[in-house]
Amino acid sequence: MSDNVIDVRGIVRNFKLGQEVVKVLKGIDLEIKRGDYVALMGPSGSGKSTLMNLLGCLDTPTAGSYKLNGTDVSSLSDDQLADIRNTEIGFVFQTFNLLPRTTALDNVALPMVYAGKSKKERNARATEVLESVGLGDRMDHQPNQLSGGQRQRVAVGRALVNNPSIILADEPTGNLDSKTGVEIMALFDKIHADGNTVILVTHEEEIAEHAHRVIRLRDGVIETDIRNKEWKD
Ligand code: ADP
Ligand code: MG
Repeated sequence: MSDNVIDVRGIVRNFKLGQEVVKVLKGIDLEIKRGDYVALMGPSGSGKSTLMNLLGCLDTPTAGSYKLNGTDVSSLSDDQLADIRNTEIGFVFQTFNLLPRTTALDNVALPMVYAGKSKKERNARATEVLESVGLGDRMDHQPNQLSGGQRQRVAVGRALVNNPSIILADEPTGNLDSKTGVEIMALFDKIHADGNTVILVTHEEEIAEHAHRVIRLRDGVIETDIRNKEWKD
């Protein structure tokens, strides 16, 4: 079996805007190996979020194929896709996207509800995950009682809770001050060191330096794909 967790061939994504067809992704080929740590960069509007949404099975391509762990996701039903999103993909958003009036513990445990786990199992696992992201003392806090960095830690915990195949993060430090952003990147470094496959979008070079591979998009195509020489994987 291939050790590619992601195998993308000739992905095209067009959007219809009235009569006009906007070509956003113009033929992307991309292989991501298990354990890769990738920064996706490129100018605003170059298609980074569109590509991340496709990788996260939040959207489907106009043309081309996407295999996740060898499974062609374009052949799956909506129910199967929802299941993949919940169990194989951990998505972290710039704006955290937590449920308000819901504790950190219940926010983190939510993907386990969808996965049909018992309350006992959910609470044990969510507790373990919150401790691992440094929030062992904030489990009963709701989002509005947490700082931005703490909210993003909750979101990272939620992304990790079902042990997904890939962690996708679209500008995870974009709403944080630079000191907090560095702390969140230390958390992504740890998640990667634990064996996870991580792809994150950033437009900051210092953030991208945490990754082992930097892919730059421009105008809907991959312009460069460079592996950091210090990492021999
Ligand atoms: P980035 O994340 O790199 O800033 P995006 O992927 O968000 O870029 O957007 C790339 C281009 O695609 C932009 O020009 C944007 O306006 C367009 N686009 C994204 N989503 C849609 C949509 N749902 N409908 C129409 N155009 C879209
Ligand atoms: Mg974007």
